[in-house]
Amino acid sequence: ICRPTGQIHDACCDYETVEKRLNTPKFYQTLRELVETNYFRYYKVDLYRDCPFWSENGLCMNQACGVEKASEDEIPEEFRSSQLSSVAAADRSEVIFQDDQKKTSGRDTSADPYAPPDSCVCRETDFCHWEAEEFSPESTWVDLIKNPERFTGYAGPGANRVWKAIYEENCFGAVPKGSFLEPPRAKSSGGGTGFVDKSSLTGSSKGGAAFGFSPPGLSNLMPSLQAPSDPAANEQCLEKRVFYRVISGLHASISTHICSDYLDQKSGEWSPNLECFVSRIAQHPERLQNVYFNYVLLVRALARAGEYLTSFRLKKGHAIPVSEQRTLTLLESLVSQANQCPPTFDEASMFQASNPEAPMLKQQFRDSFRNISSIMDCVGCDKCRLWGKMQVNGLGTAMKILFSFDDEDLVDVEKNPAPLLERSELVALINTLHRFAESLNAVETFRQMYQRELKGE
Ligand code: FAD
Repeated sequence: ICRPTGQIHDACCDYETVEKRLNTPKFYQTLRELVETNYFRYYKVDLYRDCPFWSENGLCMNQACGVEKASEDEIPEEFRSSQLSSVAAADRSEVIFQDDQKKTSGRDTSADPYAPPDSCVCRETDFCHWEAEEFSPESTWVDLIKNPERFTGYAGPGANRVWKAIYEENCFGAVPKGSFLEPPRAKSSGGGTGFVDKSSLTGSSKGGAAFGFSPPGLSNLMPSLQAPSDPAANEQCLEKRVFYRVISGLHASISTHICSDYLDQKSGEWSPNLECFVSRIAQHPERLQNVYFNYVLLVRALARAGEYLTSFRLKKGHAIPVSEQRTLTLLESLVSQANQCPPTFDEASMFQASNPEAPMLKQQFRDSFRNISSIMDCVGCDKCRLWGKMQVNGLGTAMKILFSFDDEDLVDVEKNPAPLLERSELVALINTLHRFAESLNAVETFRQMYQRELKGE
């Protein structure tokens, strides 16, 4: 199992730096303690929204797909009240509601079965759609520690369709000629939140046949995800390569968690499955490289927003309570460790003003990532949906920190009266970084297992 060496593509540090100076035992330990604190372990999420892009979403009936919810009493009171309405917490004029989007995009979605639900709102700076409580009455609290990300058995055409939809989002801007990703495909133009009509993904005509789990054989007719969609292998601009690396790295990290906490269905025991890891990750070195890429992106976001994050206590309703002093100390320590590292990613290299296409590219990049956050409602396994949503929110928060704000925005907390980030975004950012740190540790375990196997031990 290869250990990548040298410069990480499209980042500004090398693999050795990640291993020796970033993902150190101290950094990992701090992160781990942090995600176990009350502030970071409870996450509010809506697991019951309908898939906005295709109908009849097959549901995973495996027990392992279930999510154990936290009752409202379990949640420390401060956090209950900290779940201020996102809309109330933000300046209303900054919020893009779906109705406004309809107006700005000029697209009439009223009769569109693939239109997003009305609850989709976000601010211009956001890379994900919100799950604002007033629009998501079914959202529930979940204790992340009690619901570990692991093998659930969710697989087949349903899962495949979701991944395919996610990779299709990489296709913003010009579509490579001859690619299966070429139109038919409709995309809202101009500003606004932008939603892709997913009917082309299903092969359905609008309002036509419902799709859930495809009958066996249909998936064979679906084009392979692999060949044309790896922009890293093609001539692509930096922004598109980064987008691809982010989703491929997320996919690889999820696969790593599945393989490292795998259920042996014969013995009923949970343990790392080397064969699973070799076939899904190790045989495709670029997937592992993309896990490292996401890691450095997240660390950079943490370092960049450090001062803002640690003064989070200043933000009304989002505070780490005084009684949680240990949590604040851990967060400060994590930020300070991230800041002591060499630079890992240069956000200024993206969307450069010298590129006349940069503003459009940035809008498309953001729209596409927002679409991915909506695609998460199509995941047919609650546990997978929980972690999928949480990590997409975490990566979206990292991108928001890197690409939506000036340095000044993040330093001068008084500059913006509305919070730049919600509590749920901070929780998602830290937990997502923890997921990737765990993936890198799991890779190390698999390397050792592989060595032992080679020696016949
Ligand atoms: P898949 O992982 O479904 O991949 C489909 C195809 O994508 C592959 O054949 C390959 O061509 C390509 N591909 C695979 N990895 C990459 C990569 N890193 N980069 C680029 N291309 C790639 N299952 C669980 O057991 N537990 C979970 O917690 C879980 N969470 C999920 C979260 C989400 C958001 C989704 C969509 C699915 C989740 N699943 C989970 C299902 C899981 O990801 C797989 O889909 C499932 O295990 C079937 O795997 P597979 O081998 O068929 O390939």
